Amino acid sequence: MSPPLRHLVLALGDQLDPDNVALGGIDPRQDRVWMAEVREEATHVWSHKARIALFLAAMRHFRDHLRAQGIPVEYRQLGTHPHESLATALAADVRRLAPARLVVAEPGDWRVREALGAVSRETGVPLEVRQDAHFLCPTADFNAWSAGRRSIRLEHFYRWLRARTGILMDGDAPRGGRWNFDADNRAAFGRAGPGLLPAPRGFAPDALTRAVLAEVEVHYPDHPGSLARFDWPVTPADAKQALADFIAHRLPQFGRYQDAMWAGEPWLYHSRLSAALNLKLISPRQVIEASLSALDDGHAPLAAVEGFVRQILGWRELVRGLYWRHMPGWLAQNALDADRALPDFYWTGETDLACLREAIGQTLALGYAHHIQRLMVTGLYALLLGVRPQAVHAWYLAVYVDAVEWAELPNTLGMSQYADGGWLASKPYVASGRYIQRMSDYCKGCRYDPAHAVGERACPFTTLYWDFLDRHRDRFAEHPRAGLQWRNLARLDDATLMRIRAQAAGLRDAVGEGPR
Ligand code: FAD
Ligand code: SF4
Repeated sequence: MSPPLRHLVLALGDQLDPDNVALGGIDPRQDRVWMAEVREEATHVWSHKARIALFLAAMRHFRDHLRAQGIPVEYRQLGTHPHESLATALAADVRRLAPARLVVAEPGDWRVREALGAVSRETGVPLEVRQDAHFLCPTADFNAWSAGRRSIRLEHFYRWLRARTGILMDGDAPRGGRWNFDADNRAAFGRAGPGLLPAPRGFAPDALTRAVLAEVEVHYPDHPGSLARFDWPVTPADAKQALADFIAHRLPQFGRYQDAMWAGEPWLYHSRLSAALNLKLISPRQVIEASLSALDDGHAPLAAVEGFVRQILGWRELVRGLYWRHMPGWLAQNALDADRALPDFYWTGETDLACLREAIGQTLALGYAHHIQRLMVTGLYALLLGVRPQAVHAWYLAVYVDAVEWAELPNTLGMSQYADGGWLASKPYVASGRYIQRMSDYCKGCRYDPAHAVGERACPFTTLYWDFLDRHRDRFAEHPRAGLQWRNLARLDDATLMRIRAQAAGLRDAVGEGPR
């Protein structure tokens, strides 16, 4: 008879770090790790095939790594068990294995945390949730820092966390005398374009990953996206190489071109590390340390390194803190009363708006778009059109390989759609087609003209931009940071405004109301 099971240690699909705190103190003689592949994780939003494949491939490599170390793993593989959801699969195994305790690192999603709590209550087996050491700012510390603040802004949080961690600090002062190098960053490529770009290191699927890719095609044939170019890191060793490649070839130009876009060039100088970070194949500390070494070695300038560290230490930690502070209430927010459906072309890329065709086409092909493509192309269009934010959220959670709710939801409902009325962003990120023209070459290949708001060639972004300002005039005209845009609106004559309204109504009516 086998001895009773002490701990069933849960390793969720986004907790694949060899240093996972739940594994601390594990005793292979009396504990077991539990992992499960369940349909619900791929279907609660209509997930991109590459997103599903990445999770499954990384999970199976992690399972094999644990087993190679002599750690027993109960692994429920897709298609070999009847359970649709994590909760039902876990409840069945808890009953079968009868552990004395369940142990897990803090889950990333509110939905999953609730489900695990419910299983624990239902089966009567206590659940120990350990603080996730992956993050630089524990949720309790974030809550203490943010308590009582009227507004929570990146700049305040980022400076506080830099001072607290000593990252990019000279004593009490920011390294180089400035907290922010935005003035040196965020350039466009200009007419000549980006020139020869360094091709990022890709990872040809090994036998295990190839088997996963084949299974995804079988189990999820009608899901969006393609697997043809799947080359993501799926192990910590891959992720380390991906980091080294970014530091060597792209970090020095990262800050300068972080907001630029160019047709046919999905990666530019971006790191492609978000998925590896979110699955915890690599830690933010490793990533930050590598970029600081590049600064110390004189390989990368301070402006680039600061711009990059700001994303990881600043934005990534901030959105996680805010997510846990506001969940589950964030999910239902719709401060701007947006009620349109998400246009069908978000799932196909078939549109004559060149910028959207490019950003969505690339997303479906790769499961990737960089931040400005997400914020100022796909996100901006949905915001200007007035798409119901929950539909936008479901799309972003589905189509990116790095999509995990704690990172995706604040970016979508907060930064991009302003659905929360300002928990994350101080004002809506709105711009006309001219912004896209300035930051990319997309408009060159487009049948529309960003300079026109009305008429046959009017750029829908430009039409909807003025219409957005008009529709939300009462809310923002007096806003201290947004007022300038609304003052420009006041310069439009009545006749022009009437024509803009009519043209925008045509665009908004064409998509119709979205489901509640
Ligand atoms: P880089 O440009 O190289 O940036 C470096 C790293 O900084 C990223 O890998 C990421 O870990 C971090 N980072 C940068 N910006 C952010 C941010 N705003 N929030 C959190 N982390 C950030 N990021 C996700 O990781 N998962 C998501 O599901 C996700 N959804 C998004 C949805 C919308 C509407 C928007 C506007 C942004 C979203 N982001 C999300 C943030 C950002 O777009 C991606 O992290 C980034 O594009 C990933 O590519 P990269 O690794 O090449 O990033
Ligand atoms: Fe996009 Fe308008 Fe430029 Fe066309 S003209 S690419 S729709 S911004």
